[in-house]
Amino acid sequence: MKIIVDLNKCSDHGECVAAAPEVFSLNNRGELSFRSVASDTFVSPDLDESLRNDLLDAVDNCPMQAIDLEG
Ligand code: SF4
Repeated sequence: MKIIVDLNKCSDHGECVAAAPEVFSLNNRGELSFRSVASDTFVSPDLDESLRNDLLDAVDNCPMQAIDLEG
């Protein structure tokens, strides 16, 4: 299971951080931390199945529909 985040859609408001803090975080500039490792699209490594419910909440709560869950 992976998440794919469209960083061009993301508006850095952090609803995903509240839903799945194990995976999402904001950096000290208030930006989604994945921006430091990807410029357009972030693809995560394989994530533990125990995170699925939190990740589904992040997908549902993202106001920009920037997060996809694959697998
Ligand atoms: S909830 Fe969506 S728009 Fe907000 S920071 Fe997370 S990925 Fe970006």
